[in-house]
Amino acid sequence: MDMRSLSIDIETFSSADLVKSGVYRYSELSDFDVILFSYSINHGPVIYKGNIFSGHIFCAECGSVYTPRVWNSNTKYRKTVWQCIGEIQKKKGCATERLTDEEIKSLAVKALNIVASSKTALVKTAMSIAREVYDNSALEAEAVLARREMEEAASLANDAVRENAASAIDQDEYERRYNAIIQRYMAAKNRLVAAEGGIASNNSALAGIRRYVEDVERMPDVVDSFDPEMFTSLIECMKVRSGESVTVRFMDGREVEVGL
Ligand SMILES: [Zn+2]
Repeated sequence: MDMRSLSIDIETFSSADLVKSGVYRYSELSDFDVILFSYSINHGPVIYKGNIFSGHIFCAECGSVYTPRVWNSNTKYRKTVWQCIGEIQKKKGCATERLTDEEIKSLAVKALNIVASSKTALVKTAMSIAREVYDNSALEAEAVLARREMEEAASLANDAVRENAASAIDQDEYERRYNAIIQRYMAAKNRLVAAEGGIASNNSALAGIRRYVEDVERMPDVVDSFDPEMFTSLIECMKVRSGESVTVRFMDGREVEVGL
């Protein structure tokens, strides 16, 4: 799956409470893992999750998603431990680390600081790289050609209808000719639809990178505490390896390695 087009809807997740209390209050709450948020893959249906880390932490060994398990749920020692779902289901003997909420937050802060320390360079280059990667000029030229071809086919179809009305033409021959023109029109239309689809998908990818760059620009030079909004807007996912090492993937595809 192309994880580049994963987009998280912070508006939906930032309920009135977030507006009232502010983002920093959020990160102070020990039970913020019950906050609802939503995300969408490839602009598909919006998926609501009850936990900010759900669907964002993966086992690097088997590729399975990390799932939270609450330990000592009835006591004050209650804590959430994340582990490979394959391990929970006893299907796979993955040696990847189990992580607590606090450990995940600390890993995220470490990774965010790596990005923060190079944000000036990142902001400077990210948009120009993205414009090159998601360049629309070939697709726009293709759309112009397809439109021209459609106009030409439409005009030929009109000519054929007019000719058929004005003179006695063999009807089988006329139908064959007309159908060939329609086929030409439909082929051009399909080309246009494909080109326009490509342009739209490039534009939405560019918009995603632009949002990411703006979020990076807003980052402090040093991230000293976990901020859920920063996590959801900047970090795409985390891949947990064995040996206490985690790869953190950012929204622009950049990956950084951090350790516990
Ligand atoms: Zn695993």
